[in-house]
Amino acid sequence: MFLEIFRMQIRTRLTLQFVLSGVVIMIFASFTIYFTAARFLNDDFYNRLRDKSLGTANLLFKEYEVDAKVVRKIEKDNPVNLQKEKIIILNFKNDIVYNSDEFGAIKISQPILDRVKSGDKVNFREDLYDVAGTLYFTNFDRFVIFGAAINSEGAAHLNELKIILVFVCCLSFLLFFIVGWFYSGRAIKPISDVVKKVEEISITSLNLRVFEGNETDEIGRLAKTFNKMLERLEASFATQKNFIANASHELRTPLTSINGQLEVLMMKDRSAEEYKTELQSVLDDIKSLIDLSNRLLLIARTSAENPMSLNNRIRIDEILWLAREEIKKYNTNYQINISLGNSLIDSDQMVVVGDEYLLKVAVSNLMENGCKYSDDHTVNVRLHHFRQSIEIIFEDGGIGISENDLQKVFEPFYRGANAISVSGYGIGLPLTRQIIKNHNGNMELLSQIGKGTKITVLLPIIS
Ligand code: ADP
Repeated sequence: MFLEIFRMQIRTRLTLQFVLSGVVIMIFASFTIYFTAARFLNDDFYNRLRDKSLGTANLLFKEYEVDAKVVRKIEKDNPVNLQKEKIIILNFKNDIVYNSDEFGAIKISQPILDRVKSGDKVNFREDLYDVAGTLYFTNFDRFVIFGAAINSEGAAHLNELKIILVFVCCLSFLLFFIVGWFYSGRAIKPISDVVKKVEEISITSLNLRVFEGNETDEIGRLAKTFNKMLERLEASFATQKNFIANASHELRTPLTSINGQLEVLMMKDRSAEEYKTELQSVLDDIKSLIDLSNRLLLIARTSAENPMSLNNRIRIDEILWLAREEIKKYNTNYQINISLGNSLIDSDQMVVVGDEYLLKVAVSNLMENGCKYSDDHTVNVRLHHFRQSIEIIFEDGGIGISENDLQKVFEPFYRGANAISVSGYGIGLPLTRQIIKNHNGNMELLSQIGKGTKITVLLPIIS
């Protein structure tokens, strides 16, 4: 339905535009042809009139000096006469010398007479008659001659031309419509095909692609861009699907464990000491469940479009000390050494804008990982001032990450081969990277198996 309306609209619009342009051009051309022809026919008629009246004047005054009565008689029967032809000749005193206008159909006003006397060739219309006035010279005198006739032949020609032009115009409008309809249909066909294909694509068939055709034209480029968007959508849907599957799995593990432990506990009566030990284990599982759901919530919060208000001024060194303190509360064997790099940094160069809690989560993750994945449970944290940023380096001499895992450790729930015997969920690094990204920062990970891991975080400071 949508496809039909879409196609109809563009097609009709294109056709109408085509027809309209054609109509304007055709009407303009027809008017030009008509008026040029009319002018030509008129000029030609006046010239013929003038020639005829000059011929009569010649008969009267030049070659034969024929008597006016005879001339009138000759002219009356002349087969080349124009329709209702009249010739009037006056001398300069305005006396009529010759006149074939017996009934006085032609009236000549004084201003026209004056204009002709002054040498102008005057053409004008008197009722149905076209009149041409000229000055005529003999050896001894000057005369004013007027030739008049009805140009019915010219009018008939013009009428004929008008009918032809109207017919050609109407026919061309029809042709414009047919051709426009055909070509606009052809022009939008690739778009219609794309729309048809797009309608077939849904969340369950994101693997489908639109035909890219000729990639160099606009429609080809549109299809290509659309396909790229589909690729990104497909990838992001796959990630989401994975994420949900992994999250459910991670949540189910402690829940199953709690369930099992409580069922075993209920099987028979136990001593207070036994209850205490079992409940402690259940409590540990619940704590890890809370920790996991907190992290999942944080991931959701940091990945949202407008994740948080990042407008607090925060001293990054204070965050590091706070994080260190909290970690050490539960992991007394962890060694976290914080130092101020080689360069001297003043306190202003350590102020970043952001969310205190999230930044603490990020640096805690990196500190914990450094300790967790090294035998000496030690991580060295160094602060540097770097251009308009603060650089925080987390370095440990631990087990390191294999090259294969280096690519994947930022994927949610991915745990490296080195982490089999270490507890965790695989969401620390992705969460940290998301937080740093939200703070317009950058994160770089370098690691070598057996040698250790170095993570560099760059955060912009306010100066
Ligand atoms: P978790 O530590 O809970 O497994 P993380 O997202 O923090 O999850 O880390 C993902 C993986 O990256 C870990 O499973 C581990 O394989 C690897 N990793 C992270 N930090 C280090 C480190 N400092 N040393 C060695 N491996 C690390």
